[in-house]
Amino acid sequence: MKNKNTKFFIDFDGTISTVDVVDLILERFASEEWKVVEKEWAEGKIGSRECLSRQIALVNAGQEDVRRLLSKVEVDPYFEEFLKQARGLSIPATVVSDGFDFSIQEILKRSIESSLLENLPVYCNRLEWSAGKPKAVFNGDSPCEHGCANCKPRVLKQLTDSHDFVVFIGDGLSDRFAARSADLTFAKGKLLQFCQDNQIKHKPYTNFKDIKQWMESELLNLGRI
Ligand SMILES: [Mg+2]
Ligand SMILES: [Zn+2]
Repeated sequence: MKNKNTKFFIDFDGTISTVDVVDLILERFASEEWKVVEKEWAEGKIGSRECLSRQIALVNAGQEDVRRLLSKVEVDPYFEEFLKQARGLSIPATVVSDGFDFSIQEILKRSIESSLLENLPVYCNRLEWSAGKPKAVFNGDSPCEHGCANCKPRVLKQLTDSHDFVVFIGDGLSDRFAARSADLTFAKGKLLQFCQDNQIKHKPYTNFKDIKQWMESELLNLGRI
């Protein structure tokens, strides 16, 4: 953390939410072909923008069906405490996700105190519904070099400068580019393996309790608390 301004950037699916919500929707409502598309993305043959638009096109479900499915999704049990602590210490936290506003807002609203959500900007893709079917909509920026739907390192770059200490928290392969551009990455799941294989500066974690503890010990060292 050093003497710089720490900023947290946090993946949503499988990191804040305990399951990957995009996968959950696909497993429940898409034809099997979504797995073929997923494999092409995991192997690096296509970017997430192409991957998600093809996968969401395979989904056959109305808004209410998806909402009902999301009602069972939980968030990390320590996420709210983590947010409270970060806010108390004036450390900004931002969600940066390759998932969709519809599910993220639905889950966060139900699980996290509204005053905390006011200070938690969310950068993600959108789901639009027409004729009872969803469509993936991406921001209008020119596509990045990786073919991302929502390019995480680009968001990190937009929201930070050289005085910031960028901490990224994630769990999966959609975080691989962000991990490369952060000063420190908290990693679990497939992202942990990726960080180990690619010598990316990281710390393993299990849940947000670990990150809360890290924040406390770092700030104690700096004499800030
Ligand atoms: Mg994830
Ligand atoms: Zn990108």
